[in-house]
Amino acid sequence: MNRFENQIAIVTGAGRGIGESIAKSFATGGGKVACVSRSDSAAKVAEAINASHPGAARAYRVDVADKKAVEEVSAQIFADFGKVDILVNNAGITRDGLAMRMSEEDWDAVLDTNLKGAFNFIQAVMRPMIKQRSGRIINISSVAGLMGNAGQANYAASKAGLLGLTKTLARELAGRNITVNAVAPGFIKTDMTDVLPESIKTAVLGQIPMGRFGEPEDIAAAVTFLASADAKFVTGQTLTVDGGMVMA
Ligand code: NDP
Repeated sequence: MNRFENQIAIVTGAGRGIGESIAKSFATGGGKVACVSRSDSAAKVAEAINASHPGAARAYRVDVADKKAVEEVSAQIFADFGKVDILVNNAGITRDGLAMRMSEEDWDAVLDTNLKGAFNFIQAVMRPMIKQRSGRIINISSVAGLMGNAGQANYAASKAGLLGLTKTLARELAGRNITVNAVAPGFIKTDMTDVLPESIKTAVLGQIPMGRFGEPEDIAAAVTFLASADAKFVTGQTLTVDGGMVMA
């Protein structure tokens, strides 16, 4: 099914985990994808995509928190692909610790990557999207941004911030046929969660009605729905994908 034929997507944090799965889904759907990561991890993902879908992917290395560098890399993406139809702000980090002891550095690193990083890419693509009068922006938030999580003041604030950003941009851009939505994953099996102690994993599992952790593909399916024509009248929403952990 080529539902992304002639579509160009940027996926940040595409080097591993959820972002890798999202990037591969766009290619499977016939789209082309700019895979962005901080290290050279996205290059390996782009290589794997091109092995099965020749010419579908290119890799870009940038720190999303660096506004000037994001502007430069975005200019390169527009030069390489000619346009951008879909932006998925997925790059994210954790620096967990109780608020009482959280360092300024850990606060800034998480807010700069998770929240400012998303805004940096949105600003880089919104003008051309406004001109072409179409676009899809999807921000990867978290259930931590909906319900809070002890030990994640910085992370939860960044993910809740993304929801305010999503709704505001949805209002600002709706008239230009650009939708802006968020996906809030629950606990998904990736490098990010792999490092957590078994005791925490067991406690989290007890809060998931479906009785299992999510897979990156569960999130990619939600993202590709929001990026597809099927979701053309959906904007400003948060799609929670968590096995029933949070019910509004
Ligand atoms: P991973 O840690 O597995 O991968 C994170 C990706 O983001 C990597 O490719 C990494 O690049 C990239 N990245 C991190 N910082 C930067 C930066 N400053 N600039 C550019 N790229 C960066 O994470 P997940 O796949 O688990 O998570 C993806 C998103 O989903 C994140 O936003 C996360 O907060 C969110 N999420 C995850 C959940 C989970 O349970 N896993 C739950 C809820 C939300 P590199 O490979 O170069 O290091």
